[in-house]
Amino acid sequence: MKKNKPSNSEEKIFKGIGVSPGIVIGKAATLERHRATFIPRKVAAEQVTSEVKRFEAAIVESKRQLEEVKQRILEKGLGQHAYILDVHLKLMEDRMLRDETIKMIKEQQVNTEWALKVTLDKLSDAFDAIEDEYLKERKEDIKHVVDRILRNLTGRELRQIEDLEGEVIVVAHDLSPADTIQLNLQRVIGFVTDVGGKTSHTAIVSRSLEIPAVVGLEDITAYVAGAEQIIIDGTEGFVVVDPTPETIKAYHLKQQHYRYLERELLKYAPLTAETQDGYYVTLQANIELIEEIPSVIQYGAAGVGLYRTEYLYLNRKTLPNEEEHFQVYKQLVQQLAPYPVTIRTLDLGGDKFASHLELAEEMNPAMGLRAIRFCLKEQGIFKTQLKGILRASTYGKVKILLPMISGVEELRQVKVILEDTKGDLKAKGVPFDPEIPLGVMIEIPSAAVTADILACEADFFSIGTNDLIQYSLAIDRVNEHVSYLYEPLHPANLRNIKGVVDIAHKEGIEVGICGEMAADPLYTLIFLGLGLDELSMHPLAIPRVKKVLRRSTRTEGVRLLKEVLQFATAKETELFIHKEMCERFPEDFIQCME
Ligand code: PEP
Ligand code: MG
Repeated sequence: MKKNKPSNSEEKIFKGIGVSPGIVIGKAATLERHRATFIPRKVAAEQVTSEVKRFEAAIVESKRQLEEVKQRILEKGLGQHAYILDVHLKLMEDRMLRDETIKMIKEQQVNTEWALKVTLDKLSDAFDAIEDEYLKERKEDIKHVVDRILRNLTGRELRQIEDLEGEVIVVAHDLSPADTIQLNLQRVIGFVTDVGGKTSHTAIVSRSLEIPAVVGLEDITAYVAGAEQIIIDGTEGFVVVDPTPETIKAYHLKQQHYRYLERELLKYAPLTAETQDGYYVTLQANIELIEEIPSVIQYGAAGVGLYRTEYLYLNRKTLPNEEEHFQVYKQLVQQLAPYPVTIRTLDLGGDKFASHLELAEEMNPAMGLRAIRFCLKEQGIFKTQLKGILRASTYGKVKILLPMISGVEELRQVKVILEDTKGDLKAKGVPFDPEIPLGVMIEIPSAAVTADILACEADFFSIGTNDLIQYSLAIDRVNEHVSYLYEPLHPANLRNIKGVVDIAHKEGIEVGICGEMAADPLYTLIFLGLGLDELSMHPLAIPRVKKVLRRSTRTEGVRLLKEVLQFATAKETELFIHKEMCERFPEDFIQCME
C-alpha cells in the first residue's frame, strides 16, 4: 500500500486511504498512542534495589511533569482545570499504590511495570466495590496516573493531545474516535495514521468534523520525527513529507481547484433529489455531533437518516442522564423540522468505546457484547436513552433505529422495553409520539437473510453496509492489511442489498442505506436501479450524489443494474461502473480515467 518515493530532494510520498477529503499543508506533530505493555519479568535478587529506585525515579519525574502542566494551565488563566492535576499529584503519593508495588517488587522479584500493573488491578477492584459514584470515578484518575508512571518507566514519549498547539497535522500510529473529537478542540488541521480503514469510526468522525485525513499508511510514524512540513491530500489518499517548493505550489493550486469544485457542487444543495423522469430519492445526513446541524442544512439534506448517539457517551466520566439525552435530541429535531430525524440507539463496541462504560476486553470486539446486545443487557442505560428520544418526539418527526439486530427476537425484546418506557412516561403525564416508528439496521448477514421475517415487525429498514460488508465478507473494517478485500461491489454485497430492498418493498416498508457506500456517487445509479427509498451519508457528500441523480433517469439506473448484477467479481463491476460514470460525468469522475 505504501509508496515511498524519494525524489530530487528529501521529499517522501506515501499512499494510504483517504478518508476525509481536502488538502492541508502544515507542520507535523507526532503523537504517542501506544499503550505501554506489561510483561512479567523476573529480576535477579541483586537488581531488586535498583528496580525500586527506578520506580521511585519514575514517580519523581511524573510529579515534575504534572507540576509543569499545572503551571502552564495557571499561566493561561485556566485555574479551574488545575484541580484534576492536584488530584493526580495526590494519587502519585498514594501509600497503597507506592507501598504495594514496592512490596511486590521485593517479595516476588518482578519488574516494576508488572508490579505496578498488579497493584493497579487490585486498586481497580477496590474502586469497583465502592457505591459512591464520585469515588468510583477516581478509578480513571488512578489509571491515568499509572499510565504516566509507566510511560516514564519505559522511556516512551509523553506527548498528549492537550499538548498540541497551533495548526498542526497529527501523525500517530492510531487514534480512537474520542481522540479525534479532541483533536478538533485543539484546532488540529489534519491527521494521518498507520492503521485504519475507510469505515473505521475514527474515519467517520474525521469526515463529520471536516478534518482532512489519510489512514492505513502502515508505518508513516517511522518516517516522521515531528516538526517536518507535511501535506495531506485526504481526497486522493496521498501524504507528502518534506515537500519541495514545487510540490507545495502544486498542492496550493490543487487546493484552490477543490474549493472551486466544492463551490460549484454547492449549487445542487438546495435542489430536490429528483431524477429526470420524476423519481425521488430521499437524501439525508449521517451525523455524530450536534455541531453538525449547520452542515446538514448547508449541504441540502432532507433530515438526518442516522444520528450516531454513541458520541454522547464519549470523552466523559459519567453516563448521560435522561435530561441530557432529551435536550440534545430536542435541539436536533427542532432545528431540522419539518424534516425527520432518525436517532440510532447506543451502538458502543467494535472500534467505538466509551470512556466511562467499562466494556470488557474481548477477543473479538466486533462480534462481542456491543450495540443492541449491550442495551438489552444494560436495560437501565437503554431506557434512559429511550425516554430522552420519546420526549423529543413531540418536537418534530423522530424515528428510532436499532443497531446490530441479528434476528426478530431482539426486535421483540426491544418492543417490550419500549412499551414499558412509554408506560413510565405516560404515568407521569409526559407527552411523546405514541406511533414513533421503530426501524432496524440490516448490518448482520442473519438480518439480511431473515429480512422477510423482520419486515413484518419493523417499521423501516436501514442497511448498514459498513458492517454488512465486514461481516458477510469476513473483512475487519479497521484492518488496513485486508482493506483491499473490503469490496462494496462484491456480488455478495450487491445481492444482499437487492434481497433486502425487494423484501422491504414487498412488505410495504421503506428501506435506505446509511453505510459509507451511500456517499459514493460511483454507486448512485446502482442504488437508483435497486429502488432504494433513502440514502443517508455525511453531509458533504450530498450535493455530488444529488447532481448524479438530477442528471439521470430511473430507467438508466435499472438498465445499468441489470448489467452490474451479471458480473462475477467486484473488479469487473468496478471497471464497468467507472467507465459508465466517467462517460456520463467526465468532470466528476475524471480521476478514474488517469
Ligand atoms: C454501518 O455499519 O454501515 C453503519 C452505518 O453503522 P456504523 O458505521 O456506525 O457501525
Ligand atoms: Mg454498523
